[in-house]
Amino acid sequence: MSADLSGQSHIVVGGAGYIGSHVCKMIAALGGTPVTFDNLSSGHDHAVQWGPLVNVDLCNVEKTREAFHAHKEAVSVIHLASSIEVGIGEKDPAGFYNNNVIGAYNLLEAMRANNLNRFIFSSTCATYGETENVPLTEDEVQNPFSVYGKTKLTIEHMIQSYHNAYALNYITLRYFNASGADPDGDIGEEHDPETHLIPIALEAAAGRRGKIKIFGTDYETPDGTCIRDYIHVNDIARAHILGLQRFDEGLTNLEVNIGTGNGYSNLQILQTIEKVTGLPLPYDATPRRPGDVTRLYADATRAKEVLGFEPAHSDLENIIRTAWNFHRSRWQI
Ligand code: UDP
Repeated sequence: MSADLSGQSHIVVGGAGYIGSHVCKMIAALGGTPVTFDNLSSGHDHAVQWGPLVNVDLCNVEKTREAFHAHKEAVSVIHLASSIEVGIGEKDPAGFYNNNVIGAYNLLEAMRANNLNRFIFSSTCATYGETENVPLTEDEVQNPFSVYGKTKLTIEHMIQSYHNAYALNYITLRYFNASGADPDGDIGEEHDPETHLIPIALEAAAGRRGKIKIFGTDYETPDGTCIRDYIHVNDIARAHILGLQRFDEGLTNLEVNIGTGNGYSNLQILQTIEKVTGLPLPYDATPRRPGDVTRLYADATRAKEVLGFEPAHSDLENIIRTAWNFHRSRWQI
């Protein structure tokens, strides 16, 4: 990648988290300084290795304002901090709306107060909801099914309003399923509790938990399980860098899918994990998980045409191999 971020600092909100830490590593590799804003509620201070850490909770209006004021020389703000677990959101919508929507509002206000006007936002394919129209284009009606998706769509609307009224320049990246890990093994997916399919299945393969539960085998898909579009975390990180470059060229006001365009069922994921690890992975079929939709995979045309983005690391075996290598070194097996 030819981007040169020398001398620039970029605020990465959620930089101690899974995707955020990979974004920080890439910014630093291109000569920039990632300034992580994180309350460490789900991120890890050991993942902040490429720039300073500012411990700030977006729900604290005063501290958020102060933190942005202290770093108002930043060229952009990348916002990845949010509550993400679909199942937890169904049980705790108040917590999700507070952390995600109120937090994003406080962040946008702090940006406005400090004349920061370049913003990259982590949104999600979960804003689309249940649809038969796959692959999903960005023009699909957004009718999210989960509380998680609803909070992200609310923030998308807020950002559009800030663009219209206050000239906020923004790029909203609607990620599909982030997966895989840094090939150097420095960082990877470390949620606690872990709710995502690939890391849970790797734990089961390693004998660190009992049989994996597959939530729903009665979906209208070829093998009855849900279909998702898995994209390597370093491809997602690169989409942010491309976004930063496009700002320089005047691009703004963009919503774009970040996916591969390929859908894999939950059982196909388990089969690929068995292949990559060489370990058996038995599963229990259990009822559907509330909030899940049948199939989600991207039409990746806009990302290619407008951002110049194409996945380079998202071959499914590579995703699983990098995740497996990261977890094995963490578990010392
Ligand atoms: N899933 C599953 N068992 C698990 C975790 C996830 O069957 O222990 C399924 C989940 O119901 C969904 C798919 O795996 O169909 C991907 O879920 P994940 O939480 O990884 O990502 P999401 O698509 O919800 O963002």
